[in-house]
Amino acid sequence: MKLELLKYPDARLRRKSEPVAEITEEIRTLARDMVETMYAEEGIGLAAPQVNRPLRLLVIDLSGPSLREGATVYINPELEILDDEKTESEEGCLSVPDLRAPVKRGARVRVKALNLEGIPFTEEADEVKAICLQHEYDHLEGILFLDHLSRLKRNLYAHKRKKLLKEENS
Ligand SMILES: [Zn+2]
Repeated sequence: MKLELLKYPDARLRRKSEPVAEITEEIRTLARDMVETMYAEEGIGLAAPQVNRPLRLLVIDLSGPSLREGATVYINPELEILDDEKTESEEGCLSVPDLRAPVKRGARVRVKALNLEGIPFTEEADEVKAICLQHEYDHLEGILFLDHLSRLKRNLYAHKRKKLLKEENS
């Protein structure tokens, strides 16, 4: 089932997510629905708080909605940036419509998480995957990619978005 996405400036995107206490059937269904939603919205990653479930759960499939080579589910992920090297790339977010902007992030990360069977796994990632993991992990902390932009860019977007929402509702 495709889930509804929360969109900026929805305050619920700003909550800090709670750890998944137990991997129940409900959690497995949520993960499946998140993957479906991610593909339907043409994203490569999605975090549970984006679908109004403040839980520490991410799904990522870098191959995207056309290839669907396989989504990875990360439950209660712990993220570590491996060195000082930075990388900059243009990011967008399903919860932040009509904005793409360059963001600087750690070039290499290590993530420890549980899979849907509750088995711990560790991954090291660079390039797009490292960026995607940091972006999705931020959602669990209530951080959006636009928080990494300059205040000027952030304010411009906030203003534009407010105006648009006002027009849609009038
Ligand atoms: Zn996002």
